[in-house]
Amino acid sequence: MARETIMQFDLFDSGSNTILGSPTYQEFKEQLIASGCTKCGLHAGRTQIVVDRGNPAAPVMVVGEGPGEKEDQQGLAFVGRAGRMFDQIMNAVGIDTNQDMFIANVVKCRPPDNRSPHADEAATCLPFLRRQIELVAPRIILLLGATALKHFDKSKSNFQMSDEAGKFFTLPDFPSTQFMVLYHPAALLYNAKLKPAMWQHAKTLRRYLDQHGLLGKLGRPQQKVANQGTATSS
Ligand code: SF4
Repeated sequence: MARETIMQFDLFDSGSNTILGSPTYQEFKEQLIASGCTKCGLHAGRTQIVVDRGNPAAPVMVVGEGPGEKEDQQGLAFVGRAGRMFDQIMNAVGIDTNQDMFIANVVKCRPPDNRSPHADEAATCLPFLRRQIELVAPRIILLLGATALKHFDKSKSNFQMSDEAGKFFTLPDFPSTQFMVLYHPAALLYNAKLKPAMWQHAKTLRRYLDQHGLLGKLGRPQQKVANQGTATSS
């Protein structure tokens, strides 16, 4: 099935070329922050550009929608209530979100009132995410929530999260990467019935990492996965 490209930048835009052409992740991040990007309207309401959190050398990249209030204040991705919930769930299966994961968002500036990014805002910012993916080359990308999936895979327009969450799949644009969609942790804060499914999906992820020796590549001792338990909201 034909898919729309998610990288549409003006080739004559020297500012963007400087950022997107950065040879290392650190340079990319520094250039993006220093740019004071105003490519979409979200720049007007931000405190700062929020690029990431975690370890760029990690095997798992996590993609959320955009920064919220806490992220905007701290300049770090996924540090609000939903982020803490996510940390808690992953910690429960022996995954450290700051060591074993690298977390970024579809848009780098906080949407007003924590709304979802509009399609044009996401399309404008997605080349930065695309470059992040190229530079960190994750083995697995976790898409948090239906919106992240829709922005990433334009063929997905009408689906049930219960049918998509927790399954590995691939996308033609990223042949070396396994994708998995998870319920957005914010949804778990309001609907506790989703927690058992999320718990199973986290265990599936941990099994995959173990089977492929991906946590061991970081040189950390692998932790034993708990047999049971349910993360609780803060
Ligand atoms: S959201 Fe992305 S494209 Fe829009 S102003 Fe921020 S960095 Fe630039």
